[in-house]
Amino acid sequence: MDRLGNGQMAGISAGRLSQAQYETNFADLHPRLDRHEALVAADRCYFCYDAPCMTACPTSIDIPLFIRQISTGNPIGSAKTIFDQNILGGMCARVCPTETLCEQACVRNTAEDKPVEIGKLQRYATDIAMEQGRQFYSRKAPTGKTVAVVGAGPAGLAAAHRLAMHGHSVVILEAREKSGGLNEYGIATYKAVDDFASREVDYVTAIGGIVVQNGQALGRDFSLSDLTSRYDAVFLGMGLQGVNGLGIEGENLVGVEDAVDFIAALRQAKDKAAIPVGRRVVVLGGGMTAIDAAIQSKLLGAEEVTICYRRGRENMNASGYEQDLATANGVIIRHWLAPKAIIGKDGTVRGIEVEYTAVKDGRLVGTGETGIIAADQIFKAIGQNFSASGLGALQFEKGKILVDAEGRTSVEGVWAGGDCIGIGEDLTVSAVAQGRDAAESINRALAAGSQPATAVA
Ligand SMILES: Cc1cc2nc3c(=O)[nH]c(=O)nc-3n(C[C@H](O)[C@H](O)[C@H](O)COP(=O)(O)OP(=O)(O)OC[C@H]3O[C@@H](n4cnc5c(N)ncnc54)[C@H](O)[C@@H]3O)c2cc1C
Ligand code: SF4
Repeated sequence: MDRLGNGQMAGISAGRLSQAQYETNFADLHPRLDRHEALVAADRCYFCYDAPCMTACPTSIDIPLFIRQISTGNPIGSAKTIFDQNILGGMCARVCPTETLCEQACVRNTAEDKPVEIGKLQRYATDIAMEQGRQFYSRKAPTGKTVAVVGAGPAGLAAAHRLAMHGHSVVILEAREKSGGLNEYGIATYKAVDDFASREVDYVTAIGGIVVQNGQALGRDFSLSDLTSRYDAVFLGMGLQGVNGLGIEGENLVGVEDAVDFIAALRQAKDKAAIPVGRRVVVLGGGMTAIDAAIQSKLLGAEEVTICYRRGRENMNASGYEQDLATANGVIIRHWLAPKAIIGKDGTVRGIEVEYTAVKDGRLVGTGETGIIAADQIFKAIGQNFSASGLGALQFEKGKILVDAEGRTSVEGVWAGGDCIGIGEDLTVSAVAQGRDAAESINRALAAGSQPATAVA
């Protein structure tokens, strides 16, 4: 790496900014509303009957009710309304793409008006309750049943909490050192500041009856059949661990990195100045991971950050709001470009050759027209995949665990939810809904199993 006259480093380098700049750049994206702001925002709600916002929420939170509770000066009651449906309502208030869920469905979301700020109101209520340490749920009498939950991400935590409420004992087996899943290792830093993910894990597990064992990996330390023989039921919430490869020349050059690893390192870094970033960064992909990697590269001091996506703006998985957030932070988004080869010198990245794409007869094809974008760091954000071993006879569909509408897998006594199953969108709120609903199904199954057999006449 060359030192330039202006004191900055060429290529990939840490510490590009002053400490004050890092603090400003990685501050809370949407700080909590104050009381007055919350009352004004709540006042805009029409408290609709059959509220479309509620139908659009994957966890079916009673949104008009919790907003009315805020407007009547009862944020604690409001938080309970939220947690009744979504025990990770605090994180969801921070990370949900509300612009494609509840706020998109809000009747006030018209050309002349704007939707009620449901996400911000949810954060207002849940933050107050969590800061006051208000717990709303106690455990039912112990059932004597123990359920193993694999993975302490949103799906596993939601399942564990609901099972504990029903009086079951829960053992969460988590491969990583910290719990929280992608809330801890994936969500963009500016969406979950002040160690919120870890504080939320403590809040959720405070109900009792949940033991978390970190550093325990399915496929390495135990198998699924070990769990089915030891526990009364099993919930799998392992998320997606693999990262899709590009399969092009130059992929192994120094400077080509997985966006998810970069984001995780940034989330775990005590000092943002320790995270190296390129001067010219190219991010490949069109989802939230691509947007988060690009914005955070810019916030770390990269001069030029370009997202290359192989289809159009409307095809990107990242919402319009997320795309606008990226461009507002100086990220360039280029559409209809596919990576062709990564160009290197002396083993390190110097640029990327891209090919323009088009849809012909319904298929995405390269047009043959190519170009080169200079880059010293390239992030792959072209999707994650499920990769786990030790799962025995479990059946899969399109690379994810096959489940029925209740989250039951093909193996008796084993349920699954979250990103590792093929139902719904890969979002925090969907994982919470699936974990919660699978726990209800497990509870019904365990209750049915513990009833005395009906005498046959
Ligand atoms: C970079 C990034 C940014 C995102 N941003 C957003 C966002 O802003 N908003 C949003 O709604 N969604 C976002 N998502 C998606 C969201 O984070 C996921 O949909 C959600 O975390 C899925 O929850 P989960 O519990 O299924 O899986 P995860 O959160 O992945 O948790 C799975 C847990 O299982 C553990 N585990 C894995 N394998 C094993 C094993 N073999 N044994 C034991 N434990 C294991 C993992 O360590 C992890 O703790 C983002 C995803 C990424 C990658
Ligand atoms: S749709 Fe909008 S106005 Fe109606 S209840 Fe929901 S938030 Fe309130």
